Amino acid sequence: MPLPRVRLRAGREKSLRRRHPWVFSGSVADIEGVPPSGATVALMASDDSPLASAAWSPSSNIRARVWSFDPEVRIDADFMASRVRAAARMREGMLDAGHTGCRLVHAESDGIPGFIADRYGDVLVVSFLTAGAEGWREALVAALIEATGCGVVYERSDADVRALEGLPPRVGAIAGTLPQPITFVEDGLAYRVDVAGGQKTGFYLDQRDNRRCVREQAHGRDVLNCFCYTGAFGIAALAGGAKSLLSIDSSADALALAQINLEANALDPTRARWRDADVFGELRKLRDAAVQFDLIVLDPPKFAPTAHHAEKAARAYKDINLLALKLLRSDGLLFTFSCSGGISADLFQKIIAGAALDARVDAKIVRRFGASADHPVALNFPEGDYLKGLLVRKS
Ligand code: SAH
Repeated sequence: MPLPRVRLRAGREKSLRRRHPWVFSGSVADIEGVPPSGATVALMASDDSPLASAAWSPSSNIRARVWSFDPEVRIDADFMASRVRAAARMREGMLDAGHTGCRLVHAESDGIPGFIADRYGDVLVVSFLTAGAEGWREALVAALIEATGCGVVYERSDADVRALEGLPPRVGAIAGTLPQPITFVEDGLAYRVDVAGGQKTGFYLDQRDNRRCVREQAHGRDVLNCFCYTGAFGIAALAGGAKSLLSIDSSADALALAQINLEANALDPTRARWRDADVFGELRKLRDAAVQFDLIVLDPPKFAPTAHHAEKAARAYKDINLLALKLLRSDGLLFTFSCSGGISADLFQKIIAGAALDARVDAKIVRRFGASADHPVALNFPEGDYLKGLLVRKS
């Protein structure tokens, strides 16, 4: 059966010829028949030359996502399995006794748009975020089990973006039963992960290398960890010999897990304090009380999911960074991050520069951060480069 053909408007094939995998609704000229959500379609240029095979998503503004730029390649379970195997191969050297967790499949950047798979020990946590990924759910899960030998697969398809694809949220075990508790090891430190109820798939694996950098710099320092979630940056800081740690998050559940993580690593609990509070308000209180720190981590949630939200997000980033720069002692270090797709690395740097200016602080960038290597960025998909961070040293 030939695939339903989707023809693009004249000139709209340019990004596909540069191998960008998305087709927006405004680029579509006409469609053969009514392909169902998730169906594989043949993308054609306006002159009817074949461009790619793609997953059709009729309710999303991103109307099609490319599976293969070779129109001859069959899109089937074997195709999905070969992409999953390639993704698993890339991570082979990343797992050992000191690191038992990693992102195994990173969506578009691993050639499987909309599909995320994280590994915590022998537990796999998967998210199907697009109609196309949803359509190959069983094949993808079978391929993952085959590639990893893991027996437990849990689904966390509850991100808001599913609604844009016309998909309801779905959460639960797909294979095996979740062991309780679930722990894994990052950089030799043990972390408990709430796979069923935590944020995303339960842990922010993308910050692995950056947590190591905090650990290396933390010795003898008073550390403030803002938006701490289950404590990972703070645990890393204590493992690195931090003198004291104050961690702030507005999720009581996350803070409870953070304290378990502290105990699991036999770190001195008297050095750590945990505060269930709003970071924006708490930073002001610390400023008013003239409390000072030597190392501050700011790892907030995504303030700007798209460029549309950039302006408001920029104000929020500037606010917390300005306050943090004031709370730092001289020679202090600020690890500041943004995981907002709508804020470029360039804009982020400008925001931090503006914060330093308004705080009347001299500071310099001494390092730049991205996501760890298990979160690759395909060169044809710059949108995959969402995490940016700066290590800023106050003079
Ligand atoms: N740094 C963490 C991940 C942070 S995720 C890690 O390495 O694991 C963002 C966190 O910010 C979430 O835990 C969320 O509960 C928290 N959060 C969101 N808005 C907040 C606010 N206004 N004040 C405090 N915490 C907030």
